[in-house]
Amino acid sequence: MQIVEFRFQLPEWTNALVQASGSQFDSEDARMRFVVELSRRNVRFGTGGPFGAAVFEADGHLLAAGVNCVVPSRCSILHAEMVALALAQQRIGCFDLSEGGRFRRTLFASTEPCAMCFGAVPWSGVCALVCGARDEDARSVGFDEGPKLADWPAQLEKRGISVTRDVLRSEAAAVLAEYAACGAQIYNPGKSGL
Ligand SMILES: [Zn+2]
Repeated sequence: MQIVEFRFQLPEWTNALVQASGSQFDSEDARMRFVVELSRRNVRFGTGGPFGAAVFEADGHLLAAGVNCVVPSRCSILHAEMVALALAQQRIGCFDLSEGGRFRRTLFASTEPCAMCFGAVPWSGVCALVCGARDEDARSVGFDEGPKLADWPAQLEKRGISVTRDVLRSEAAAVLAEYAACGAQIYNPGKSGL
């Protein structure tokens, strides 16, 4: 049978979190706290890997939230950043989150992007990336971040995308450690655990 459609859905609990948090996040810390909470709840509800992300308008309005859905959705590309970018693009009805340079939207990620998500950032149209935990925090609990350029932040900056690192890093890294400590699946290429 040929598959002609692909759909995925955020876990149900994300609606409740967004409702409870409101849609306006005035500071960088508040935005990062929200994406770290996404990652934490994804672990505690058992709905995916320990990663959260969200796209915000320049004024801090939440456009779309994402969590890692790889295992439950049986799809390797559904990292939190990819999910947040895709849902933000669906929400505005345009593949370009800058909408021709008219909007300055930012991607927040609870952990620095892997090789795939790094590649997706310039294609998305965001003008800034803000990260919590470092990729070495993810690697230290067993996740493979892929073959990333050592100077990946500089590569994004060269394309006009600002990169801010270490925002609430310890809180974000604690979620990675919690995930590893509870013996949850560390899914990597060739390690599906099946
Ligand atoms: Zn990724």
